[in-house]
Amino acid sequence: MNKQDERQQVIDYALKLNTTGLSPGKSGNISVRFNEGLLVTPSGVEYQQLSPSDIVNMDLSGNVSDDCVLQPSSEWHFHSDLYQSRADINAIVHTHSTYCTALACTGRSIPAFHYMVAIAGGKDIPIAPYALFGTEQLSENIVACLQSRQACLLANHGMIAMGSDLATAFKLAQEVEALAKQYCIALKLGNLNVLSDQEMIEVLDRFKHYGQRL
Ligand SMILES: [Zn+2]
Repeated sequence: MNKQDERQQVIDYALKLNTTGLSPGKSGNISVRFNEGLLVTPSGVEYQQLSPSDIVNMDLSGNVSDDCVLQPSSEWHFHSDLYQSRADINAIVHTHSTYCTALACTGRSIPAFHYMVAIAGGKDIPIAPYALFGTEQLSENIVACLQSRQACLLANHGMIAMGSDLATAFKLAQEVEALAKQYCIALKLGNLNVLSDQEMIEVLDRFKHYGQRL
């Protein structure tokens, strides 16, 4: 895929953040790995207004390509740091989706209340500690949290989902938001029956051998 096609794909999925209700307005951001760097949504532009030339191309140190007019998302730090720390990741979706954010604002991770939490790569969906948005500290917290997961919540902020391509990362973001909604409802009902570590090891093993299509 050339740079123009990749930029259009970032726009298509940014628009899907709105149409699927995952992130209202211009909250959230999306990136894909591109050559030695990444393509990321710009700061402060409504997704409906985006054209391919607005998508920012930068290297993994944060240097913006000369042909870019706009500034990258203020949250570019964790995008570039995740690409540096995870060679298997080629796309990142970050949202302030309602149920993930509600849980994240109460400091909760998502435990194994349902076996599908294994879709994020482990026995729970963890939460990265709070730090000011756009800071290197927040990025450090996220990178540490995502060493062995494909998704996590961000305290008092939102969530991140990653994948080998943008379609996979976006589907994971939708799945994690659905799990967050189910968990919120289950919490209200009370008497949660959380699966044991052994039960989750069996689920993860099955996912590994039979695959879990998103
Ligand atoms: Zn954010």
